[in-house]
Amino acid sequence: MSEASSPDFLQQPVTALRGVGDALAEKLARLGIMRVEDLLFHLPLRYQDRTRIYPIAELKVGQEVLVEGEIESTEVVLRGRRMMLCHISDGTGILTLRFFHFTTAQKQSLRQGVPIRCFGEVRQAGFKLEMAHPEYRLLSATHPEPIENTLTPTYPATEGLQQRSLRRLIEIALEHVDELPDLLPERVVERHGFPQLGEVLSLLHKPQGGTPSPALPLSGEGARGRAPSDSSPDKGRLGRVSSRLVFEELLAHQLGVQQARHELQQVQAPAMQDTNRYWQQLLRSLPFAPTDAQNRVIGEITQDLQQGIPMNRLVQGDVGSGKTLVAVAAALHAIANGFQVALMAPTELLAEQHYQNLTRWLEPLGLETVFISGNQTPRQRRRKVENLLLGIGHIAVGTHALFQRTVEFLQLGLIIIDEQHRFGVHQRMSLREKGKQGDNYPHQLVMTATPIPRTLAMTAYGDLDYSVIDELPPGRTPITTVALSNERRDDVIGRIAAACCEGRQAYWVCTLIEESEALQCETAEDTAALLRERLPHVEVGLVHGRLHGSEKESIMRQFKQGEIQLLVATTVIEVGVDVPNASLMIIENAERFGLSQLHQLRGRVGRGSTASSCVLLYQNPLGKTARKRLDAMRNSTDGFVIADIDLELRGPGEVLGTRQTGDVRLRIASLLRDQHLLPAVQVAAREIVANYPERVKLLTKRWLQQPDGDTATRFFQS
Ligand code: ADP
Ligand code: MG
Repeated sequence: MSEASSPDFLQQPVTALRGVGDALAEKLARLGIMRVEDLLFHLPLRYQDRTRIYPIAELKVGQEVLVEGEIESTEVVLRGRRMMLCHISDGTGILTLRFFHFTTAQKQSLRQGVPIRCFGEVRQAGFKLEMAHPEYRLLSATHPEPIENTLTPTYPATEGLQQRSLRRLIEIALEHVDELPDLLPERVVERHGFPQLGEVLSLLHKPQGGTPSPALPLSGEGARGRAPSDSSPDKGRLGRVSSRLVFEELLAHQLGVQQARHELQQVQAPAMQDTNRYWQQLLRSLPFAPTDAQNRVIGEITQDLQQGIPMNRLVQGDVGSGKTLVAVAAALHAIANGFQVALMAPTELLAEQHYQNLTRWLEPLGLETVFISGNQTPRQRRRKVENLLLGIGHIAVGTHALFQRTVEFLQLGLIIIDEQHRFGVHQRMSLREKGKQGDNYPHQLVMTATPIPRTLAMTAYGDLDYSVIDELPPGRTPITTVALSNERRDDVIGRIAAACCEGRQAYWVCTLIEESEALQCETAEDTAALLRERLPHVEVGLVHGRLHGSEKESIMRQFKQGEIQLLVATTVIEVGVDVPNASLMIIENAERFGLSQLHQLRGRVGRGSTASSCVLLYQNPLGKTARKRLDAMRNSTDGFVIADIDLELRGPGEVLGTRQTGDVRLRIASLLRDQHLLPAVQVAAREIVANYPERVKLLTKRWLQQPDGDTATRFFQS
């Protein structure tokens, strides 16, 4: 046959396979399957065991099993709707097959006494067991049908594509599995004792049966959020075998990220080589000196900006570490070189706060800060937009409205994104595109307070250079954290009264995370009313997501100026808000929050010189994870320590923020489970780049093919 004799059969488009026309090819492409080889790397989500026939008496609800019996009777009944029930018996018990759709011919064929084999999920129906719409086959009494001797894989599929056709195509591809080039260097294979690639793939697509309840052996982040199971077939063997693929996938991912970085270095950005005279000027007027950590990071940024290629740097600094000042230093460097800057914040509130800080710092230098808000009318915005276009405005501050609206710059040289975990990688990418002028791309600086463990950062943000502000400004007193059950609420209210009496300020954060925003706001309103009643001498303010931008701003302004002493808020204050005089933070329902979020919230206090405290109010009974979280909060104020515990408790997807998870699409590897492999993966990546550069493309093509036919590296060219 021609398909077998072609030398590069695996590299052929899928249409080279018999029975694959354009329509089917298009469906396969939706799964990222373009070439025959791609079929081999389309790995099962889980397996069905059709290697064994189960006695009806042993069936358990939820099992997917093969059953054989004789038809006792078949009836059509009306129970709300018309349906056909077929009762079968194997001598150990009776099972009902339920069909909602059936033909007359079908009904006639399911006659009493006919032997039948069916496969489906066992369900409870009243006191009896049944299968709804099982796959079935009528057996001949004289010719026994063989049963499968390997497990049946279930593949990720797409609309209109049957498991059956996927299995058939993959089986054809498997006949050529030995022609698959092994892209791992021999030394790497030996070092890790990996089995042959062909052997690995054959085993994953057709494992031997043996355990009563097969489930998925593979659980990458791409495995649609399914948890790994303990009952996979021949688990030990599959585990060992799949580790080779896990390694290869992580390797491909690493190479892809490196490639993206390399490509980014092929484009131009303005080389900003003039000295930063504005920064020198600002430093003289600041009441404090930058910390060593701030200076070091500013140095790293300045280095980047002087190159003629786009900066692509992530600055991580714990809450309160002074990221804003670092951003300002970067901005001033660009401005001193004749370029404009865009500073983007995740909320109006933060944008407003940045605007105020920048105006305060930059106005004396004769520089113009422009505030672009989603709340502005076109008329209000017109002058501002004009100023940017004319180059009169030096720095624009705003939310993403900054880029969605018709804002144009004369000479945009630097984009700064604050509190990046709210922005996806795609958004970063499109921003860069929008800022492109001629052949020049703007530099990009991303700032985040989310501490990212190093191993994760290398993988998830491998395209970005990475700086850490690992020091807090001096004079901060550590925050004391206590966890109290709700019954102690009265004590807490007493504490607020005392603190406010001493001229301090407090936050009270109320939340209902699962509920709607409307409910959240209502709860906050109720809480504020209650606190007003209980604390008649304290000025209580309220902010929540439903307030108008201007209302929110005015309340925040009053809080900043000390006119409001107790601020009741929803989590809108989670990121970035800076009021140094606030030294008491109450977080209600603390048990419902993730660690990172608690840490972010707590970071709103401890910014001034008075001792700060954070009270975590919880509702009994406390679950095990919740207790661990609260303990972690009491025992540490170090964002990295907390991030590590968070990673342990939640897994990397959530730590990186849901938006990012979608971008690190792994099929079989899991960043959490497999992170111990990452150092070895990096070594292997270097080996390949140095000795087998031609394999880089092959590996990334093999593994990073995305459902839409794009390669994943595209996601990283942010
Ligand atoms: P974050 O890193 O959370 O964004 P901010 O930039 O809001 O932190 O800074 C927190 C507070 O610390 C601000 O009031 C800021 O003015 C102040 N600050 C920043 N750098 C220093 C420094 N080197 N010394 C003293 N205070 C500083
Ligand atoms: Mg900040």
